[in-house]
Amino acid sequence: MSQRMQQGGVPMVVMDEEAQRVSDRDAQEYNVSAARAVAEAVRSTLGPKGMDKMLVDSMGDVTVTNDGVTILQEMDIDNPTAEMVIEVAETQEDEAGDGTTTAVAVAGELLKNAEDLLERDVHPTTAIKGFSLASDHARGAVDDIATDVDADDAELLRKAAETSMTGKGAETNKEHLAELVVGAVRAVTVDGTVDLEFLHTETQSGRSVSESELIEGAVIDKDPTHDEMPESVEDARALLIDEPIEVDEADVDTDVTVTDPSQVQQFLDQEEEEIRQKVQQIADLGANVVFCQKGIDDLAQYYLASEGVLAVRRVKKSDLEFLAEVLGASVVSDLDAAASDVLGTGSVRRDGDAEQFVVESDVEDSHGVTLLLRGSTEHVVDELERGVSDALEVVGQTVSDGRVLAGGGAVEIELARRLRDYADSVSGREQLAVEAFADSLELVPRVLAENAGLDSIDTLVDLRAAHEDGDERAGLNVFTGDVGDTYDAGVVEPAHAKEQALSSATEVANLVLKIDDIISAGSMDDDEAGGAGGPGGPGGMGGMGGMGGAM
Ligand code: ADP
Ligand code: MG
Repeated sequence: MSQRMQQGGVPMVVMDEEAQRVSDRDAQEYNVSAARAVAEAVRSTLGPKGMDKMLVDSMGDVTVTNDGVTILQEMDIDNPTAEMVIEVAETQEDEAGDGTTTAVAVAGELLKNAEDLLERDVHPTTAIKGFSLASDHARGAVDDIATDVDADDAELLRKAAETSMTGKGAETNKEHLAELVVGAVRAVTVDGTVDLEFLHTETQSGRSVSESELIEGAVIDKDPTHDEMPESVEDARALLIDEPIEVDEADVDTDVTVTDPSQVQQFLDQEEEEIRQKVQQIADLGANVVFCQKGIDDLAQYYLASEGVLAVRRVKKSDLEFLAEVLGASVVSDLDAAASDVLGTGSVRRDGDAEQFVVESDVEDSHGVTLLLRGSTEHVVDELERGVSDALEVVGQTVSDGRVLAGGGAVEIELARRLRDYADSVSGREQLAVEAFADSLELVPRVLAENAGLDSIDTLVDLRAAHEDGDERAGLNVFTGDVGDTYDAGVVEPAHAKEQALSSATEVANLVLKIDDIISAGSMDDDEAGGAGGPGGPGGMGGMGGMGGAM
């Protein structure tokens, strides 16, 4: 490598002495190995039998997770190529909410197979072209293979939710959680349009996962501001206000020159009067609950309490907006201009153990709901939340897109089979790239098998044979170890997520392959180019789990 680097440093190029340059095959090798190291780091978590990772950040905070994008974001990766791969996971997370591990693992495999192509003197441009052709063809095939489902098919939606939660922290109670997820998505679906904005997720530790529930309203993480206030209000008429309930700031800032002690008293009386008036205004509006985004003055708290009003201060802006939706209220900025129609109605109840308020709606067309996830400890709840958030996206997509696929590697094998047929029609060396793409997709069932402790080669052989026989939905059921119709077995995935995984994996692989020159301003650490474990940092993160097998 050093020779080439020197070659790159010919006097023609005006570069800083410190700058390093790696070109052509060396550049490709460097990039491919960095990208593959990232892919290998998450592979062992793929599928229901995948392992988890424990990530310890520089502050000593621990995250235990199975979620691809979380692992990659928490790993302290400092390598530009590896970062491009992490972006794939992030794109996948944003666009599809699930399938991040698959997208990254496939990208890694594409690059691994591309290396073989390059070694066989296939030009990178040819490989890139072939991958793009294959990706387009595969996405078209996904649409062809996919089954159209009815958005009202609760049974199927539950299966999709369960498939996405299997193998995650959410698995232990997946029937119950799948039920909640489907209920939540349906609650925020209006005329076939899913709006997850109206769905909040709150967590609570110290109770069992099975006590998780769907609340037709909001959960606000706050205490009442004053001991004398009621903790619950059955027939709530709630005022939502985003200005402080205090003396107007303008008045506070004014310099007051006091010449006589009685003036001080007068001044204080004036302030008190102002606060009293504000509280009176609130009472006159008919409010018995106040959610305030800003502060509430001590005196105001006292007066509100004596009026029997439950007041909560420093509520997050987003929570206030959500409450407006839930209660059918308008957020008030100026008390003087407010009329009683700004109030929202419903009920407010305090969950003392959890220091939270549960606010439920009695508004007919309100569709703000909250999924309240419970679990024994914070680590448990956090991982639960990640799994459930994937499932929410999956169900949301299934409702809006209406196409699902058989999971457990069934789609990938079918796509690989179709791509190999298609390759025959592709001329030139691009054909090799299309075939390499097909091979890369088979990584999914192979790793699912590997992670489940099954023989990946036998599995692959069985799967291929089933698909040759025309069984498009033959996949691996990792619980039984059998190859069979995974769709019927209830392992279903949304088609959109798969399409997205295909396109983002291809994009990053092509992006990396297109680079034939790396010019870096600082010095480039030789270790980094070493591949597996490089970007993974300490302890060879990339080497965890059952990744030995099919490499
Ligand atoms: P990702 O981040 O890509 O979603 P996961 O760890 O969630 O990764 O694994 C998803 C893969 O697991 C999909 O290919 C899905 O079909 C597969 N899978 C889920 N449940 C089962 C099952 N019961 N049997 C076999 N494969 C399954
Ligand atoms: Mg998943």
